[in-house]
Amino acid sequence: MNKTGWVADEISELKASGRYVPIRVLQSAQGSWVTIDGARKLNMCSNNYLGLANNPETVKSAIDSLRNYGVGAGAVRSIAGTEEIHIALEKKIAAFKHMEASVVFQGGLLANTGTIPVLVGKDDIVFSEELNHASIIDGVRLSSAKRVMYRHMDMQDLRNQLKEHRSEGRRALIITDGVFSMDGDIAPLPEIVDLSDEFDAMSYVDDAHGEGVLGDHGRGIVDHFNLSKRIDVEMGTFSKALGAVGGFSAGSYSLADLIKQRSRPFLFSSAMNPADAAAVLKSIEILERDDSLLKKLWDNATYLKKGLGNLGFNTGTSKTPITPVIVGDEKKTLELSKQLFENENVFASPIVFPTVPKGTARIRLMPSAVHSRDDLNVAIEAFRKIGKALGLIG
Ligand SMILES: *Cc1c(COP(=O)(O)O)cnc(C)c1O
Repeated sequence: MNKTGWVADEISELKASGRYVPIRVLQSAQGSWVTIDGARKLNMCSNNYLGLANNPETVKSAIDSLRNYGVGAGAVRSIAGTEEIHIALEKKIAAFKHMEASVVFQGGLLANTGTIPVLVGKDDIVFSEELNHASIIDGVRLSSAKRVMYRHMDMQDLRNQLKEHRSEGRRALIITDGVFSMDGDIAPLPEIVDLSDEFDAMSYVDDAHGEGVLGDHGRGIVDHFNLSKRIDVEMGTFSKALGAVGGFSAGSYSLADLIKQRSRPFLFSSAMNPADAAAVLKSIEILERDDSLLKKLWDNATYLKKGLGNLGFNTGTSKTPITPVIVGDEKKTLELSKQLFENENVFASPIVFPTVPKGTARIRLMPSAVHSRDDLNVAIEAFRKIGKALGLIG
């Protein structure tokens, strides 16, 4: 204990500089309204886009699975942890995504850190978009491949980097988030795939915020651009629109095979719980069957952006339901979030440097299919009141 005194100092420093993030505790299930500190709060910050985290059908599917398979998978998948429901889910994902095969992981972060090092090693090179998710950055580090960054959404820069550095690696990989989670913009995947052909580089997209949001019936970004025959790897998560937890990588049959032989999260960490697999299978069935949740999500997003825009807030250039309210100043953003929570019962987390660049502090709103129009009106009215009081809008 006496050697860890520096830890408390570090915490004090974080608090003094305003970078300490207090973590709210929810006393209810996820949904449009949640209970925090005994009070009902309008939830505007979860990634539960379609409400599937607490949907009667997904819950029932998980309960039925608990009765059949118990609470745990019992081992890592390669030893004794692969249940038939994991295989059923892998087939379902591949079919849903129009890819040959897929491998499921215990989380999206593990899908990235488990797949990238299978594709590239120390003799190889990765071209990585500058705003890629932390799990991609970690996956690239773990691979020991050389990394070259290219500028956000800048295809001329990607081309220049490929020209200059492609020859430094045996194999090459271009890797990008599909939807960028802080701004809601969409990667120009058709151009990326063209460049990957031109420069003989593999292509890899992280569809965490595209699943259940983009494409036909929520199939995601690859379907949105109709690129399933051309992309090498489509990775995704079950923890956002699909409502549960887990992740996957989809690609060719051989790639799925090799991941099962080489990937460390696959070989050295126990399998995702069967009940989660069952919930995700149901979520995908719901998406395939009917796209009313998807339509509701997009309608709600349009309504919210318009409402905030009319008040004079800057909601950025999002092309997806992700709705940033860009304030700029960090202290004002923290104050806005605090007053929304305390005075208006609106739960909307602030996002500041280093998660977003300095001077672009924001509140990121996540409308969902389970918000009603009344809910969104509550949020818009709360922003009007507090925004005026803080002098953020006229
Ligand atoms: C959330 C997210 C992940 C991680 O997914 P988990 O299933 O929560 O581990 C990976 N990549 C991106 C782009 C994400 O937004």
